[in-house]
Amino acid sequence: MGIPVDAFTKSELLDVIFRANKDQMHIITVNPEMILAAQNDKEFMEILNTSTINTADGTGLLWAANTQNDSKIISILKLVKLLFKKPTTPLPELIKGSDLILDIAERAAKKGTKIFLLGAQPGVAHKTKHELEKRFPTISIVGTHAGSPSMHEEEKIKDIINDTNPDMLFVAYGAPAQEKWIARNIHKMPTIKVAIGIGGTFDYISGSIKRAPIFLQNLGLEWLYRLTKEPKRWKRIWNAVAVFPYKKISRQ
Ligand code: UDP
Repeated sequence: MGIPVDAFTKSELLDVIFRANKDQMHIITVNPEMILAAQNDKEFMEILNTSTINTADGTGLLWAANTQNDSKIISILKLVKLLFKKPTTPLPELIKGSDLILDIAERAAKKGTKIFLLGAQPGVAHKTKHELEKRFPTISIVGTHAGSPSMHEEEKIKDIINDTNPDMLFVAYGAPAQEKWIARNIHKMPTIKVAIGIGGTFDYISGSIKRAPIFLQNLGLEWLYRLTKEPKRWKRIWNAVAVFPYKKISRQ
């Protein structure tokens, strides 16, 4: 569907993120909804094609990559099989933004990497900082700011971030606003080596919203849990579990 996804395991990705690299990296954790959104959004499609690394953040992507050369009927059968077993080729595993952030935080705490947390509702990024400091006492979170993804605020936010000289930036404005924000601004923040849009992850880490129990996450049913907690998400979930497979299969 026009979007490259990198076949990294999470541990390979962490090695790439923490390898000394002189180029700035924009990492996108791609989910089926983002792929659908990009079909009607040229700017987002371009960003997804120029980002440094795209990870598979959604079981639908593992399935889509695993059915690239299959007929419609095989793709449908593989969709049913998903309920029992996730494919591991050609994409080796899911790399969910919400998990990745904790792994990055753990390694950053060991290496002294400086992190800035941008986005979410006022106070949530600050709570997230405290929560991460509790879990990883040596972590260096040099700043937090809620702000908004509006272009009018960009200059001010960029100055706030640059004043703290961070190495890494997590942006929680939801997709595609966060990816567009990063693409427009990363070059104006020279100390940033890695920027990642992380959706609602601060809400989970700060405890504002609870994640699904592990067994549901392992079954690929986190979406079902989220639906029971936030019924207004039904349209987004419908897109991920029905519209995305339908559009993918219709192209085969
Ligand atoms: N958000 C924000 N400003 C906005 C829109 C969203 O700070 O103008 C935050 C919101 O509070 C949440 C995050 O962006 O913390 C993304 O939420 P969403 O549920 O859309 O993300 P998902 O995890 O589904 O990608």
